[in-house]
Amino acid sequence: MAPEEANKIAKICLEKFDSLPKTGKPKIDFEWTILSAMVQLERKNSEVKMEVVALGTGTKCLGSDQLSPKGDMLNDSHAEVLTRRAFLRYLLKQMKKSLTEECSIFEYNSLTRLFRLKKDVSFDFFTTHSPCGDASIFKESDVDHEPLTKKMKFCETHSCESETGSKAADGMTGGKLVASDGDDLMSQEVGLIRTKPGKGFRTLSLSCSDKMARWNILGVQGSLLMMLLEEPIYLKAIVICDGTIYSKEAIERALWKRWDEDTLQGILKPPFRLNRPLVVAASNQKFFPLRKNRAVESGKKFQPAPGGLAWCQGVERELEVENGGRRQGTVKKNFGTPAARLKISKIELFSAFVAMRNELRTAAAVGGTSFSDTRINLSPSGVEQDVADFNGLRYADAKGHSRAYRAQWNTLRAQVFRVWSEKPASLEQFTIDS
Ligand SMILES: [Zn+2]
Repeated sequence: MAPEEANKIAKICLEKFDSLPKTGKPKIDFEWTILSAMVQLERKNSEVKMEVVALGTGTKCLGSDQLSPKGDMLNDSHAEVLTRRAFLRYLLKQMKKSLTEECSIFEYNSLTRLFRLKKDVSFDFFTTHSPCGDASIFKESDVDHEPLTKKMKFCETHSCESETGSKAADGMTGGKLVASDGDDLMSQEVGLIRTKPGKGFRTLSLSCSDKMARWNILGVQGSLLMMLLEEPIYLKAIVICDGTIYSKEAIERALWKRWDEDTLQGILKPPFRLNRPLVVAASNQKFFPLRKNRAVESGKKFQPAPGGLAWCQGVERELEVENGGRRQGTVKKNFGTPAARLKISKIELFSAFVAMRNELRTAAAVGGTSFSDTRINLSPSGVEQDVADFNGLRYADAKGHSRAYRAQWNTLRAQVFRVWSEKPASLEQFTIDS
């Protein structure tokens, strides 16, 4: 990627954030956050059209004592995760558009009954921070960007205080190991699966490094949308904002290099593959104004912003403000009701997916054929199954119908990700009507 391209991506992401209303944004005087965004690139001849299509900010996640069995709360509100969830809304909207022959990034293949991304469309991921977990562990000597100041110890967890000293220190993560032979869950050994950093009740949410590593094999679209797509959607590049303390080597290791290639090659089945996104930093002197490492410039101490933002292009309620896993401003009597839900919550995305699938079924019925998911026909067990109706289906069961995805994940988990923690099954028993 040409340096100008990374600079342009960083510029449009920061501008998009800037253009959003103030409501829900961190307080510049005393808060910091992370900004991530999904940028769509459309290459036509020698021109590249770039557009921010989803964006998220946030640094919080819920403890394991706060999880909801109704799919209505966000467990994980780190910027990277909010961005991905907002991006899923974008993908569903684009699928819908392609059916009505509006301009869309997808083509619908009426033979396979699946969508495919147009050839000239790709996605880059922008972020203003090294993803938490493995990508945040590096030696001072491996830092690729000379920090603005060397007075601050770099640490991605908010429980970790900045230190003053004459040197920049090694990068560390506050994420705890999911499994450890010894007792040291805070060990900084590289390449391992961790939960997210944070104080209080321990979270079950895995670090952004681990989640993004999974995107690089199974795609960013997740298991439900995989039932509607010919191929997974992979990121072409990870663009790091200027002013970010990071190590390219650590990010590459965390996102795709830490796995044994032979083991991977032995188990990966098309359409899945190991995606190797480029890691590029912008160098345009455009810094994220709410970044954590600005503290040292002003001598102030900043705290992580309590809420998050999720923005998606071209949908109803484009911008959502999150707090504690719910829509910000929800009054207590509305907790647990649809009014408290974000459109990027599990249950709302599930509902949007079912609506999309119903639309395809209707189209198939009009065409005089019965509808069955091609992904289901590709079942490794060879069992062909036409799931007529997802409306009353439980979330876990619906995901179970994404056979190829499920099968690939099972082998990956058994042989590569190994200690990946799954949330209790009781959290995925809801239906879209519940
Ligand atoms: Zn994170």
